[in-house]
Amino acid sequence: MKTPLRFLEEMVGLFYPNLCCACGKNLLIRQQVLCIDCQYRLPKTQFHLQADNPFAERFWGRLPVHAGAAMYFFTKGGRVQQLLHALKYGGQKEVGRYLGKTYGLELKQSPLFCDVELVAPVPLHPRKKRQRGFNQSDCFAEGLSESLGVPWLPDALARRAFTATQTRKSRMQRLANVGEAFALHRPERLEGKHILLVDDVMTTGATLEACGLLLTELPGVRLSMATIAIAEI
Ligand SMILES: [Zn+2]
Repeated sequence: MKTPLRFLEEMVGLFYPNLCCACGKNLLIRQQVLCIDCQYRLPKTQFHLQADNPFAERFWGRLPVHAGAAMYFFTKGGRVQQLLHALKYGGQKEVGRYLGKTYGLELKQSPLFCDVELVAPVPLHPRKKRQRGFNQSDCFAEGLSESLGVPWLPDALARRAFTATQTRKSRMQRLANVGEAFALHRPERLEGKHILLVDDVMTTGATLEACGLLLTELPGVRLSMATIAIAEI
Protein backbone atom coordinates (compact mmCIF):
# COMPACT_ATOMS: atom_id res chain seq x y z
CA MET A 1 0.00 0.00 0.00
CA LYS A 2 1.46 3.35 -1.06
CA THR A 3 1.63 6.20 1.39
CA PRO A 4 0.08 9.48 0.20
CA LEU A 5 3.57 11.06 0.13
CA ARG A 6 4.97 8.30 -2.08
CA PHE A 7 1.96 8.61 -4.36
CA LEU A 8 2.48 12.37 -4.60
CA GLU A 9 6.20 11.91 -5.39
CA GLU A 10 5.37 9.49 -8.16
CA MET A 11 2.80 11.87 -9.63
CA VAL A 12 5.33 14.73 -9.57
CA GLY A 13 7.86 12.37 -11.17
CA LEU A 14 5.53 11.87 -14.12
CA PHE A 15 5.58 15.56 -14.91
CA TYR A 16 9.08 16.45 -13.74
CA PRO A 17 11.06 13.25 -14.21
CA ASN A 18 14.23 13.07 -12.17
CA LEU A 19 16.88 11.72 -14.52
CA CYS A 20 20.38 10.39 -14.00
CA CYS A 21 22.77 13.12 -15.20
CA ALA A 22 25.21 10.61 -16.68
CA CYS A 23 22.98 8.08 -18.52
CA GLY A 24 19.55 9.74 -18.63
CA LYS A 25 17.63 6.87 -17.02
CA ASN A 26 14.89 7.63 -14.54
CA LEU A 27 16.16 7.97 -11.00
CA LEU A 28 14.35 6.19 -8.23
CA ILE A 29 12.71 8.24 -5.54
CA ARG A 30 15.26 9.90 -3.26
CA GLN A 31 18.15 9.20 -5.64
CA GLN A 32 20.15 12.24 -6.61
CA VAL A 33 22.22 13.03 -9.72
CA LEU A 34 23.49 9.48 -10.42
CA CYS A 35 21.61 6.20 -10.72
CA ILE A 36 22.96 3.16 -8.87
CA ASP A 37 24.35 1.71 -12.10
CA CYS A 38 26.39 4.88 -12.82
CA GLN A 39 27.52 5.17 -9.21
CA TYR A 40 29.21 1.81 -9.60
CA ARG A 41 30.16 1.83 -13.27
CA LEU A 42 31.53 5.31 -13.92
CA PRO A 43 35.28 4.91 -14.50
CA LYS A 44 36.86 5.93 -11.21
CA THR A 45 40.61 6.61 -11.34
CA GLN A 46 41.40 5.83 -7.67
CA PHE A 47 44.41 8.15 -8.12
CA HIS A 48 43.94 9.54 -4.61
CA LEU A 49 45.26 6.26 -3.21
CA GLN A 50 48.78 6.64 -4.63
CA ALA A 51 51.12 9.62 -4.79
CA ASP A 52 52.65 8.64 -8.14
CA ASN A 53 49.80 8.53 -10.59
CA PRO A 54 49.11 9.77 -14.15
CA PHE A 55 47.56 13.02 -12.82
CA ALA A 56 50.56 13.93 -10.67
CA GLU A 57 52.96 12.82 -13.42
CA ARG A 58 51.68 15.52 -15.75
CA PHE A 59 53.17 18.10 -13.39
CA TRP A 60 56.58 16.49 -12.95
CA GLY A 61 59.26 19.07 -13.76
CA ARG A 62 56.63 21.78 -14.00
CA LEU A 63 55.72 22.57 -10.40
CA PRO A 64 55.84 20.93 -6.97
CA VAL A 65 52.54 19.13 -6.37
CA HIS A 66 52.03 17.32 -3.06
CA ALA A 67 49.17 15.20 -4.38
CA GLY A 68 46.97 15.21 -7.46
CA ALA A 69 43.90 13.20 -8.38
CA ALA A 70 40.88 13.13 -10.65
CA MET A 71 37.64 11.44 -9.73
CA TYR A 72 36.87 9.89 -13.15
CA PHE A 73 38.46 9.12 -16.50
CA PHE A 74 36.96 11.29 -19.24
CA THR A 75 36.06 9.59 -22.50
CA LYS A 76 34.54 11.36 -25.47
CA GLY A 77 30.87 10.52 -25.80
CA GLY A 78 30.92 8.64 -22.49
CA ARG A 79 28.84 9.03 -19.35
CA VAL A 80 31.38 11.27 -17.64
CA GLN A 81 31.12 13.70 -20.54
CA GLN A 82 27.33 13.72 -20.13
CA LEU A 83 27.75 14.42 -16.45
CA LEU A 84 30.08 17.37 -17.08
CA HIS A 85 27.76 18.63 -19.79
CA ALA A 86 24.83 18.64 -17.35
CA LEU A 87 26.91 20.67 -14.91
CA LYS A 88 28.45 23.17 -17.34
CA TYR A 89 25.80 23.69 -19.95
CA GLY A 90 22.67 22.30 -18.30
CA GLY A 91 23.10 24.65 -15.34
CA GLN A 92 22.77 21.74 -12.91
CA LYS A 93 24.90 23.05 -10.06
CA GLU A 94 23.85 20.17 -7.83
CA VAL A 95 25.92 17.86 -10.06
CA GLY A 96 29.10 19.68 -9.01
CA ARG A 97 28.15 19.77 -5.35
CA TYR A 98 27.15 16.11 -5.34
CA LEU A 99 30.42 15.03 -6.98
CA GLY A 100 32.42 17.23 -4.62
CA LYS A 101 30.66 15.82 -1.57
CA THR A 102 31.13 12.24 -2.77
CA TYR A 103 34.79 12.71 -3.69
CA GLY A 104 35.51 14.66 -0.51
CA LEU A 105 34.49 11.62 1.55
CA GLU A 106 37.04 9.53 -0.36
CA LEU A 107 39.80 12.15 -0.15
CA LYS A 108 39.28 12.44 3.58
CA GLN A 109 40.27 8.78 3.90
CA SER A 110 43.45 9.28 1.84
CA PRO A 111 46.70 10.02 3.74
CA LEU A 112 47.66 12.31 0.84
CA PHE A 113 44.63 14.56 1.10
CA CYS A 114 43.33 14.16 4.67
CA ASP A 115 45.15 17.26 5.99
CA VAL A 116 43.98 19.68 3.29
CA GLU A 117 43.13 22.99 4.99
CA LEU A 118 41.58 25.04 2.24
CA VAL A 119 39.84 24.50 -1.11
CA ALA A 120 40.45 27.01 -3.93
CA PRO A 121 38.61 26.71 -7.26
CA VAL A 122 40.14 27.74 -10.60
CA PRO A 123 38.20 30.89 -11.47
CA LEU A 124 36.17 31.34 -14.63
CA HIS A 125 36.62 34.51 -16.62
CA PRO A 126 33.97 37.06 -15.51
CA ARG A 127 32.50 37.22 -18.99
CA LYS A 128 32.06 33.45 -19.14
CA LYS A 129 30.71 33.44 -15.60
CA ARG A 130 28.10 36.00 -16.59
CA GLN A 131 27.09 33.88 -19.58
CA ARG A 132 26.86 30.66 -17.57
CA GLY A 133 25.63 32.27 -14.37
CA PHE A 134 28.10 30.37 -12.18
CA ASN A 135 31.53 28.76 -12.08
CA GLN A 136 31.28 24.97 -12.28
CA SER A 137 34.49 24.61 -10.24
CA ASP A 138 32.86 26.57 -7.39
CA CYS A 139 30.15 23.91 -7.12
CA PHE A 140 32.72 21.11 -6.96
CA ALA A 141 34.78 23.10 -4.42
CA GLU A 142 31.72 23.70 -2.25
CA GLY A 143 30.92 19.98 -2.10
CA LEU A 144 34.53 19.06 -1.36
CA SER A 145 34.74 21.65 1.40
CA GLU A 146 31.60 20.27 3.02
CA SER A 147 32.92 16.70 3.16
CA LEU A 148 36.48 17.63 4.07
CA GLY A 149 35.23 20.02 6.77
CA VAL A 150 37.46 22.88 5.59
CA PRO A 151 36.62 26.29 4.09
CA TRP A 152 36.59 27.04 0.38
CA LEU A 153 37.57 30.43 -1.01
CA PRO A 154 35.77 31.37 -4.23
CA ASP A 155 37.93 34.48 -4.64
CA ALA A 156 41.40 33.18 -3.74
CA LEU A 157 42.33 33.38 -7.42
CA ALA A 158 41.02 35.84 -9.98
CA ARG A 159 41.16 36.00 -13.76
CA ARG A 160 42.70 39.15 -15.13
CA ALA A 161 42.03 39.49 -18.82
CA PHE A 162 40.03 37.60 -21.37
CA THR A 163 42.28 35.05 -23.03
CA ALA A 164 41.74 34.10 -26.63
CA THR A 165 40.81 30.54 -27.53
CA GLN A 166 43.57 28.17 -26.50
CA THR A 167 43.21 25.46 -29.10
CA ARG A 168 45.42 26.82 -31.90
CA LYS A 169 48.34 27.82 -29.73
CA SER A 170 51.47 25.91 -28.82
CA ARG A 171 51.97 24.71 -25.26
CA MET A 172 54.47 27.48 -24.51
CA GLN A 173 52.15 30.13 -25.90
CA ARG A 174 49.27 28.73 -23.87
CA LEU A 175 51.36 28.73 -20.72
CA ALA A 176 52.51 32.32 -21.19
CA ASN A 177 48.93 33.22 -21.92
CA VAL A 178 47.38 31.65 -18.81
CA GLY A 179 50.26 32.84 -16.62
CA GLU A 180 49.23 36.40 -17.30
CA ALA A 181 45.59 35.59 -16.82
CA PHE A 182 45.52 34.85 -13.07
CA ALA A 183 46.19 36.81 -9.92
CA LEU A 184 45.98 36.03 -6.21
CA HIS A 185 43.50 37.89 -4.10
CA ARG A 186 44.36 38.59 -0.43
CA PRO A 187 47.12 35.93 -0.43
CA GLU A 188 47.73 36.25 3.32
CA ARG A 189 44.71 33.95 3.76
CA LEU A 190 46.57 31.22 1.90
CA GLU A 191 50.03 31.38 3.44
CA GLY A 192 51.27 28.32 5.30
CA LYS A 193 48.29 26.22 4.21
CA HIS A 194 47.82 22.88 2.47
CA ILE A 195 45.67 24.10 -0.42
CA LEU A 196 43.49 21.92 -2.66
CA LEU A 197 43.22 23.60 -6.06
CA VAL A 198 40.21 22.31 -7.99
CA ASP A 199 38.88 22.42 -11.54
CA ASP A 200 36.34 20.48 -13.58
CA VAL A 201 38.57 18.73 -16.13
CA MET A 202 42.33 18.19 -16.29
CA THR A 203 43.69 18.07 -19.85
CA THR A 204 47.14 19.55 -20.48
CA GLY A 205 47.13 20.99 -16.97
CA ALA A 206 48.15 24.44 -18.25
CA THR A 207 45.46 26.27 -16.28
CA LEU A 208 46.09 24.33 -13.08
CA GLU A 209 49.82 24.90 -13.55
CA ALA A 210 49.41 28.66 -13.96
CA CYS A 211 47.29 28.89 -10.79
CA GLY A 212 49.56 26.46 -8.98
CA LEU A 213 52.69 28.48 -9.78
CA LEU A 214 51.16 31.52 -8.11
CA LEU A 215 50.10 29.52 -5.05
CA THR A 216 53.44 27.74 -4.57
CA GLU A 217 55.26 31.08 -4.54
CA LEU A 218 53.56 31.85 -1.22
CA PRO A 219 55.48 30.99 1.94
CA GLY A 220 54.71 27.61 3.49
CA VAL A 221 52.10 26.55 0.95
CA ARG A 222 51.68 22.87 0.10
CA LEU A 223 49.74 22.40 -3.11
CA SER A 224 47.42 19.54 -4.02
CA MET A 225 44.96 19.34 -6.88
CA ALA A 226 41.69 17.58 -7.65
CA THR A 227 39.40 17.57 -10.68
CA ILE A 228 36.16 15.83 -11.58
CA ALA A 229 37.75 14.18 -14.61
CA ILE A 230 41.05 13.63 -16.38
CA ALA A 231 41.15 13.58 -20.18
CA GLU A 232 43.78 11.98 -22.39
CA ILE A 233 46.08 14.42 -24.14
ZN1 LIG B 1 22.93 6.54 -14.73
